[in-house]
This record gives sequence, C-alpha cells and structure tokens, in this order.
Amino acid sequence: MSAVAVPIRDITDQERKDADLLAKFETYRDFTRIFLDGFVLVNSQRKILKFNQGLCTAFGVKAIDVKKLNTLDELITMPNPGGVGSALDEIMKATGPLRIDEVQATRNGGEKTYQLIIGSYPFFDAHGEFLGACIILRDVTAETNLQGKYKEKSIQSVTDPLTGLFLRRYFEEQVDQAMAKLREINQPPSIGILMFDLDKFKGINDTFGHQAGDFVLVETAKILKSVSRKTDIVGRYGGEEILIVVFGATRDGCCQAAEKFRIAIQEHKFIFEGKRVPVSTSVGVSMFVDLEDTRENVVARADKCLYAAKANGRNVVYCEFGDGETRVTPEGEGGRPDLGAAGFGH
Ligand code: GH3
Ligand code: MG
Ligand code: MG
Repeated sequence: MSAVAVPIRDITDQERKDADLLAKFETYRDFTRIFLDGFVLVNSQRKILKFNQGLCTAFGVKAIDVKKLNTLDELITMPNPGGVGSALDEIMKATGPLRIDEVQATRNGGEKTYQLIIGSYPFFDAHGEFLGACIILRDVTAETNLQGKYKEKSIQSVTDPLTGLFLRRYFEEQVDQAMAKLREINQPPSIGILMFDLDKFKGINDTFGHQAGDFVLVETAKILKSVSRKTDIVGRYGGEEILIVVFGATRDGCCQAAEKFRIAIQEHKFIFEGKRVPVSTSVGVSMFVDLEDTRENVVARADKCLYAAKANGRNVVYCEFGDGETRVTPEGEGGRPDLGAAGFGH
C-alpha cells in the first residue's frame, strides 16, 4: 500500500506575513468577540482575515458570505470624508491609531447609506513593515439622523419661518446672558442694538401686493445677514422691524455699522415680478451705557431714534446713548426718494 502523496509547497511571503499578523492579533482576539461594533482584521492587501458578528449585524450580511469575499472593499465603500480616496486608503497608510468620523458608507450592491465612525489600529512586523490593521466600524446612522432632526428643530424653534432671522425671544435671551456675564466680571458693556423699520412698508404692500412685501422682507434679511459680522445677531423684532445685536462694539462702530446697513439696502435693486420696488429703511441705534442699564432701556432708546428718523425724512440713522438723539447720516444724504408716482404715503 502506497502512501497518498501530499503536494508540498512553500508558503508564500504573503502567507507568512498573514501568519505573523494573526499571531500578533491573537492577544486581542477574545475581546473582538464581544465587541458590539463591527470589527474586521485586514491584511495589507485589504483581505479580510477575521471579523465578528457585529460586522454581519451592522451591514446585514451572513458570515458565510463575508468569508467568500476577497477584500473589505467588496463589502463596503467608504469614501474618505476628509479628502480624496477612501477611508480604507487612510487606514492602510496610518502609522498609528486612527479615528475617522462622519464616514458615509454604502454596502456594495445595496442602496442604504451608513453613517460610520471608524477606528483602526495598524500592525507592523519586526522590520517595521505594515502587516494589516484591526478596524472597528461603529454604525451611528440612527443617532446622526436623530441629531440632524433635533438640530433642525432647535433652529426652527428660534427662527422666523419667512426670513430665517432669529426670533425676538432668542436674541433677548442672548443679550441678557451676555450682560449677566459682563456684570459678573464687572466689565463695561460693549453691546449695541440697531433697530430697523422699513420705510412706508404699508405702501409697498398696497402698491405691489403682500407677496412683494414678503419678498422685500426676505431680501432685506439676506442683505443684513450678508453684510453683518458672524458675531452679530440679526433678528426679526416685529412685522417689518428688524433688530441687529452687535457685540464688542464702540459707539462709533455701531453708528458706522448702521449706516453701512442702511446704504446696503438703499443701493440694492429689489425686483419683484419684473418691477423695481423702492425700498429703504430707517435705523435707530443705541448701546448699553453701563452695567446698570437694561435691555428694555436700550431698545426704548433705539425705538425713540426710529421715530426721530421717521420724522426727519426716513432712510436715515439716528443714535442715542443716554444724552439725546443725534443724526448719524450726513445732512443731505438719506431721505426717502420721491415715490409719489408709485402712490406711496398714507
Ligand atoms: P413707516 O415708514 O412710518 O414705517 O411706514 P410703514 O408703512 O412701514 O409703517 P406701518 O407700521 O404703518 O406699516 C407696517 C406694515 O408692515 C403694516 C403691515 O401690513 C406690514 N407687515 C408687517 N409684517 C408683514 C409681513 O410679514 N409681510 C408683509 N408683506 N407685510 C407685513
Ligand atoms: Mg413698523
Ligand atoms: Mg415701517
């Protein structure tokens, strides 16, 4: 009876490396069995050497099907959120532990997008050659969707649906909080309030229609948002009254800002259904004069300035810092253009 000949072949270089990798991984093996997240060990050729049940659960695949795959790329596509290539490319290049957030992965052959947080740890041989990496894939799709909804809801709860500007309640809260902080550290306030009231807005509604009025409000909000600083809060105070809170400003700074906003609106061409709608705004400016000053006082002073602006030709800026109203817009400038033909006026 002759013995069955067993073909003997040399193990390949890759097999040797994989054996080295698996030996290094052995220490951690038991931990990976209890991982709730998806886990996969890949070699430098991205071949899947080990994986856990978490991976199958996360991507809805059977272990038997994962075993048939050649590489991890065949299971999921993971674009690199930070740049070119894929998240897996980054993992293959990493020389130490790596974390990649906000990966939008898709299971190959499937429609569903998964939001993943990926963590990886590379293994090297004695000569420093990269052998492969242990990769943890956390599926945060449900949490991300929920967060997105909350974020949207919380923004919605403090903004006006027509203009997207902050609601009164929101900027009042912000101003009060900022003042409370300044009072705590006894630092002089540098908060300005700029009140805008569109000129003869009723006339715009009456002449061009209510929709044109809405359009003007939306456009005005856009202009103010684009001209203001990131730290300013642009809010809708009432119907056609907009308020801007300016932080870290001087009196001159507030007045200059108000004049800049007024001019931006004056210069803008508001075209509604092919017709130019003449738009201008009067502005009242005030600031907290000291730490005892109140928001109500500041708003009342800005409001008084608005009356002065309306009484003095409109499309002008007035300021008041506790010592009487002063015109900011140079004499001869501002003023409502002749709108007689458009049928304005009350
Ligand atoms: P003044 O220059 O004195 O401010 O004149 P005005 O016509 O702007 O002043 P008034 O306060 O009498 O009119 C404000 C008008 O704004 C009345 C109201 O119908 C209109 N308005 C308020 N909110 C809205 C809105 O959301 N959309 C539209 N289209 N109009 C609005
Ligand atoms: Mg008004
Ligand atoms: Mg008005």
